[in-house]
Amino acid sequence: MKMYQGIAASPGYALGPVYPVARRQIVAPRRAIAADEVSAEIERFRTAVKGARDQIQDLVERLSAELGGTEADILASQLLVLEDELVWDATQAVIRLELINAEAAFSRAMGDIVSRFLEIEEQTFRERINDLQDVEQRVLRAFDGNRPGSLQPPTEPSVIAARNLTPSDTAALGRENILGYIMDEGGSTSHVAILARSLGVPAVVGLRNRAFRLAAGRVVAVDGIAGRLVVDPDEATCESMRMLTRHEVVVNEKLVGLRDLPAETPDGHRVRMMANIELPLEVDEALARGAEGIGLLRTEYLFFQHGTIPTEDEQVTVYGEIVRRMGGRPVVFRTLDVGGDKVSDYLGAKREYNPFLGWRGIRFSLANRGLFKTQIKAIWRAAAGGPVKIMFPMITGVEELRSAKEICREAVAELDAQGLEHGGELEIGIMVETPAAVMAADLLATECDFFSIGSNDLIQYTLAMDRGNERVSYLYQPLHPAILQSLARVVEAGHAHGIWVGICGEMGSETRLAEVLLGLGLDEISTHGVALPKIKQVIRWTGLAEARSLVGDLMKLSTAEEANAFLALYIAERKRLRAEKESNS
Ligand code: PEP
Ligand code: MG
Repeated sequence: MKMYQGIAASPGYALGPVYPVARRQIVAPRRAIAADEVSAEIERFRTAVKGARDQIQDLVERLSAELGGTEADILASQLLVLEDELVWDATQAVIRLELINAEAAFSRAMGDIVSRFLEIEEQTFRERINDLQDVEQRVLRAFDGNRPGSLQPPTEPSVIAARNLTPSDTAALGRENILGYIMDEGGSTSHVAILARSLGVPAVVGLRNRAFRLAAGRVVAVDGIAGRLVVDPDEATCESMRMLTRHEVVVNEKLVGLRDLPAETPDGHRVRMMANIELPLEVDEALARGAEGIGLLRTEYLFFQHGTIPTEDEQVTVYGEIVRRMGGRPVVFRTLDVGGDKVSDYLGAKREYNPFLGWRGIRFSLANRGLFKTQIKAIWRAAAGGPVKIMFPMITGVEELRSAKEICREAVAELDAQGLEHGGELEIGIMVETPAAVMAADLLATECDFFSIGSNDLIQYTLAMDRGNERVSYLYQPLHPAILQSLARVVEAGHAHGIWVGICGEMGSETRLAEVLLGLGLDEISTHGVALPKIKQVIRWTGLAEARSLVGDLMKLSTAEEANAFLALYIAERKRLRAEKESNS
């Protein structure tokens, strides 16, 4: 038995066999052929190129309609590579002369072109190399019957082990047969961790080369609360895992009783408790846990699940269904937040050197106006079925907000002209998740209807720590003075301009911070499902005045460490007093 410490990413316990997954990077198989097989191999090559070409053509058509051309141009240039005589001639020559199969010959021909490009110093040629490699993978997949190269979910209950998974991979894997996740990379607020929490699957990340190397079938125990991985657990460890799981079930069952009660302090102050969701399958759980609405619908996951860009009507169907199932409770649709660690090949958001500072969120949407407007129209149409609010991610200033609102006006005018039913006046809000938005909160508050604080990104950008990098995850400190000051400033600016302020980052799901959020004056807290009743319980126990004074005390401290220690003592003392009171009554 071996134990490894990682980063707790999603609470819960799992025990089961390892199922390693990796994105399939196809290496061309190589085999010798006989002279009389040459024409058959050339024919196979022709068919594979045609398959790849059809696939790209299909993407180009979709993208030029949706993205206004830029990304489609890149794909169109991939088509040109496939038509290039050099590639054809070189591949056929290698098949004939070296008597090897078509895949190996094609890969050799592409390899030669890439090395020639590598000799050229100019940057544009170097950038083309990625495209060439992309084309190569497409053709190799086409040889393989065009299997998309996506991950295959396990067929038996297993613990997924990976170096890293993109959120789109995780969404594609779904929940069936997945007992837990263990990953070498990632931090507690990386999007994969968030998705695991939403799906209710225990996860430990940041295991630094411990997870991916494990052989398939090896039994592991995953402790998503302590952030521990145990390989080949002994019977005592397995038994303690089972006991802890039973304990969790009992605690959660007790909290079910809170479902229909408001998050109201003993002195009558109410906070709206909402749920964050990524996928429609989470709606029922959100309701079962007592969510008063959806405070953050991360719409990009619906795109990832779909596998291609959904049309306006397809989006209306999914969005409308969520609104309908929420039965009159509000749903905050956050517009597409791709980029950062949420890249998706077909959307054209590519890997970048500095992804979190790159083409992400509202920047991507404003650059892809067609796609953005389609989504906005779909949201407005879904709003015909119930209360809907719209929110933009990654806002850094008023210009972006104005541009996004302008597109909303155009979208509504088009819907009117088309005679399509829609929601009319919707509340329009922004995520406050960049330090710029915090500093400009006064200005932004005059031009929108609400703020929702995205603490995951706000902490990442304020403390300059990549949320997906396990080496700097120790810097994720919600009680850092810079963060507390930022939150206080945003609430104050919002309230001064008469708009409501909520939080939808993971900070809102940390039970130990519930009193702090209450004391800061937040009107709404949106959490991942499991956390909701726990946060509600704390609010129902705490007076507003007390919570305010706690925040006042925390804000006098100079370091996150001091604040963490102060809060831990405070909570212990409160627990002691509550136990005393209960035993007296
Ligand atoms: C956040 O940044 O806190 C947030 C809620 O958005 P996301 O985690 O999707 O970036
Ligand atoms: Mg964010």
